[in-house]
Amino acid sequence: MKKPLIVQKFGGTSVGSIERIHQVAKHIIDAKNAGNRVVVVVSAMSGETNRLLDLAQQIDSVPNARELDVLLASGEQASMALLAITLNKMGYSARSLTGGQANILTNGQHNDATIVNIDTTAIDQLLAQDQIVIVAGFQGITAGGDITTLGRGGSDTTAVALAGALKADECQIFTDVDGVYTCDPRIVDDAQKLTVIDFPSMEKMARFGAKVLHLPSVEYAWKNQVPLRVLSTFDINQGSLVKGEECHLPICGLAIQRDMCLIKIDQESLVAIEEQCQLFGIDIWDVIEHPEWLGLVVKSDAYSKLEMVLQGKVADRNTISLLTAVGADAESLAHTAHQLLIDNQIVTTHLRLDEQSFTIALSVEQVNCAANILHQTYIKPIEAVDCLQKHVFSG
Ligand code: ADP
Ligand code: ASP
Ligand code: MG
Repeated sequence: MKKPLIVQKFGGTSVGSIERIHQVAKHIIDAKNAGNRVVVVVSAMSGETNRLLDLAQQIDSVPNARELDVLLASGEQASMALLAITLNKMGYSARSLTGGQANILTNGQHNDATIVNIDTTAIDQLLAQDQIVIVAGFQGITAGGDITTLGRGGSDTTAVALAGALKADECQIFTDVDGVYTCDPRIVDDAQKLTVIDFPSMEKMARFGAKVLHLPSVEYAWKNQVPLRVLSTFDINQGSLVKGEECHLPICGLAIQRDMCLIKIDQESLVAIEEQCQLFGIDIWDVIEHPEWLGLVVKSDAYSKLEMVLQGKVADRNTISLLTAVGADAESLAHTAHQLLIDNQIVTTHLRLDEQSFTIALSVEQVNCAANILHQTYIKPIEAVDCLQKHVFSG
């Protein structure tokens, strides 16, 4: 009988130094010695992707997308080799593979590519030779042989897609918190760990800024029913399991999306701008129809690209944040929650309702305070969630 197969992904903080890479190697060895076949996905060392991006932007604020992918993919390539060298030194056979070498085929959308297929032959062969396989996260290759990247935070997606393609028994996302919390535990002190979170809620949390999991990784795991667990590299416990379809809590989580840009435009320009954005691959998050103005909400880092499209059609531009509440009763609680914030002197720009969620647009300065108010009112009193001690590690 074949040994169980697990995919373990280690994020930037987890491989942030040689000492930490040693710690990661020990986890991998433990999993291997416990009788598993192990495929590992690594991110770039913490800060490295930002450093590379900054170098490129010193040359051009909108760097050539293909070349940027070549540059950014090198961060993960360094991590995978350092980890393989470490495992080899510790007496274990390990082989590192770039996204291309692992046959992770993507479409050609540079900087935000989607995985279209994984041919696992190369990995299967290495596993059959009893090797530990280490794959660079965040990257793939097009049919034409160009390197692509999957969008910031994309190593989670590499791990989940590999786990799906290899039919792994579990995909374990090791990070610097020990699970999925009711809100970012760095922002809300009372945040509680969810031992289980259902796919639809996790998908909404990820979509609206809970960066603990990259959105496409959740979508893929949900669609393909990949067993997905989030756990800490620094303090091993059961972490959080993403599983099931139903949320039973009125509000199970809050997500914060920072660095959003609200651009006020003329009503007449909307259709033309939307068409141009589609052409340039600029994602419009929302169109706000206020009685007095029309606003586009986009990610701030898309703004430089957007400037080319807008060409003077901008009436006003502000950086804002979005605070989203997710849960079975989110829609019915939206208006009272919004009013609660207003009563607490929080200035809001917009309230949007979606299925089992509501999103409030507000100032960057007040979003943390607003998250704490909503958490205190709608989440803390609920006893159904697991109230384990918070474990957060600094990078
Ligand atoms: P990695 O480098 O391991 O991929 P990330 O920085 O991408 O890690 O994601 C982990 C971070 O996500 C945590 O440090 C935490 O600050 C943040 N985070 C945001 N929302 C949540 C949440 N609901 N639960 C846990 N962590 C969250
Ligand atoms: N290194 C990439 C990033 O910083 C991918 C990842 O960490 O998942 O976005
Ligand atoms: Mg991440």
